[in-house]
Amino acid sequence: MRVMFYIILSILLKNINLAVPFMNIILENDELKTKTIYIYGHINPDTDAILSPIILRDFLIKVGNPNNLIACRLGEMNKETKFVLDYFKQSAPILISDLAGADEVILVDHNSPSQSLDFKHAKVIWLIDHHAMTGFETTEPITIITKPVGCTSTILFQLYTQNNVTISKDIAGLIISAIISDTLLLKSPITTDEDIEAVEYLSDYIGLNYTKFGYDLLEAGTDVSDLSEYDIINLDSKSYKVNGYMIDIAFVNSLDPLKVLERKEKLLEEINKFIEKNNMKLFVLVIVDIKQMDSYALVSGSLSKVVETAFGVEIKDNVIFLKGISSRKKEVYPNIANAINELPEYIPDYVPDNSYTNYINLSVLLLLSLISLI
Ligand code: MN
Ligand code: MN
Repeated sequence: MRVMFYIILSILLKNINLAVPFMNIILENDELKTKTIYIYGHINPDTDAILSPIILRDFLIKVGNPNNLIACRLGEMNKETKFVLDYFKQSAPILISDLAGADEVILVDHNSPSQSLDFKHAKVIWLIDHHAMTGFETTEPITIITKPVGCTSTILFQLYTQNNVTISKDIAGLIISAIISDTLLLKSPITTDEDIEAVEYLSDYIGLNYTKFGYDLLEAGTDVSDLSEYDIINLDSKSYKVNGYMIDIAFVNSLDPLKVLERKEKLLEEINKFIEKNNMKLFVLVIVDIKQMDSYALVSGSLSKVVETAFGVEIKDNVIFLKGISSRKKEVYPNIANAINELPEYIPDYVPDNSYTNYINLSVLLLLSLISLI
């Protein structure tokens, strides 16, 4: 009966493809009602990773789940995110460093263990994301909602609309902010019509000039003058395991990338420390010129050459200019990962001691010599 009711309701809402499964999951999952659930985005959180837990928590409460849902974060917030929280007068998610106290977890804006807390022993019940799947495994079936859109918050916006749930003005502001941040004001190649639709609809709804607000938001995050080189390379860095190699791709937005590059020597020092400490084979710090939508990248590590292969451009003194490139997800990561996957077979750093083999070879040679003498 209940399913029939939802089907009829969905037809009325003209959302038959999506509304039925979402409604069933949310309204009929009793587990969600009794357990303490942590909702969090990736480490080195960007604006989407901080805002998506707040937005999803709001949505789940509105569809009838009690307050045992906790919006969390795995690291310090950047200036851009702080600007948004101040603007819409929202409090930050709770900073956590482990999953003590959580019965279950919901992952948003990431799916890779290398960008998360160790969730191997936690019960992940939901995953809502917009990244390529990179090494996500579970022991039990879970609910996964991923879409190739520009932002996790775009998917969350659709959860509200498809389930006919009213969005408050503050939450609308947060959704707009996360999308503007992830899509660099709808200009990045990851931008889809669904992202544009969400921003335009919600800006109309709350009476916000999103272009002006968007520039203020992005600009708030570009001033790195008071950050240390260590902070800059960790601001938005993501580690990946590709074909057995650990690599890291860090991003920083700028209105004046050459100004950031003036700190090249000290940035490289920090990058090399990071490489050594984490046994990385490659570190790429991409400095995006958010006005031109081009990038400069600082490259270091034993696999540096793959970056030249990936983009067909030469690296000069650790710097490569990437014309028209601005997206990690759609351009930088896939190109570099493809170039690494095309490398000849993985050769581990560890070279086995072959003195024993040499000894055997020598013995065989001696034996053969003796035989030949006989
Ligand atoms: Mn993110
Ligand atoms: Mn995102």
